Amino acid sequence: MTLIQFLKQCFTPSTFSMRPACTLVWGGILCALCFCQSAQALVVLQYHHVSDSTPASTSISPELFKAHMAFLEKNKFKVIALEDLIKLLNKGENLPDRTALITFDDGYISVYKQAFPVLQSYKWPFTVFINTKPHDEKNHLFMSWDQLRELTKKGGTIANHSDSHPHFIRQQDYENFDEWQVRREKEIDFAQKRIQKEIGKAVKAFAYPFGEYDERLQDLLKEKGYVAFGQQSGPIANYHSLQALPRFAFGGSYGKMEDFTAKVLSLPFPQAKVQVTDNNGRVIKQPELPESLERPVLRISSPMIRYIKNLTCYASGQGEIPVELNTSVAVVRAKKPIPTARSRYNCTANAGNGRFYWHSQMFIRRLPDGSWYNE
Ligand SMILES: [Zn+2]
Repeated sequence: MTLIQFLKQCFTPSTFSMRPACTLVWGGILCALCFCQSAQALVVLQYHHVSDSTPASTSISPELFKAHMAFLEKNKFKVIALEDLIKLLNKGENLPDRTALITFDDGYISVYKQAFPVLQSYKWPFTVFINTKPHDEKNHLFMSWDQLRELTKKGGTIANHSDSHPHFIRQQDYENFDEWQVRREKEIDFAQKRIQKEIGKAVKAFAYPFGEYDERLQDLLKEKGYVAFGQQSGPIANYHSLQALPRFAFGGSYGKMEDFTAKVLSLPFPQAKVQVTDNNGRVIKQPELPESLERPVLRISSPMIRYIKNLTCYASGQGEIPVELNTSVAVVRAKKPIPTARSRYNCTANAGNGRFYWHSQMFIRRLPDGSWYNE
């Protein structure tokens, strides 16, 4: 990047507006140099049902969905297609601020009936991650292949969410390790082939069912050339693996306007690196924790960390948890063992102008006897 390009990028209106937050510490130019990195602020929104009559935890009302879209329009968000995001990620450049990707998981019929007309009115692109089995079985709760094809003529992208929506990280009793790995690959390949055949186009993108993945699955998708999305919240940052991209999920108690506003305006911690370790500093690269690790350590490293105001972290079921601030690292650890099943640490801090830095770390723990929890 040339100096001119660099300065242009730093002084775009969206990043320029953040400068007052740091002038206390750094001079104007130095400040711009530091915070222009945080222009990487693209958010991915995740919905399931858009309906008043489907399970509350995975639904938002059509009225609330309309209000979300109206907020994006009013606040001049650019809504991009999945294909555009993949191009941006592959270039490895900073992602543009106030940019959103709208996604729906599972291909429910309410997306066609309620969300699609709203999105069409804005002429916005969107993505539906489908698990192909219920569509092949003509399950009436899901869109038909004809309806999915219709979406693609008007801004929709159909992408891979597996065939049968399994818990990918659970090896079954009837299979050995190799059989398990083969089953996982078949799920991905089969769904991709079905989408290609029915839709005529299959983008190399995958959404993990239940947001669950492990290191091996990430490596497999990377080898096959896919980007992949989880369900941990947060804006996309340059420290995220392209096979574990975050999304903000809306449904149930998540998605009221105050919550939505904070999330779509969130920013990644500037110039940060994020690691989860055990008590001995060993890096854990996947959400499932080793059996003995009850209180994982989250480390957010950034040369800016000590200048960031009001860094606060929470753990599921525990409320606020301690943050130990060293020169360039925030060390976060729950006071009590984190619960079994899925849980998280969520860290936010004041970024100025009513915006928040945001990082969410998902953890998965089996039951004490090593078996899986029901879900
Ligand atoms: Zn799903």
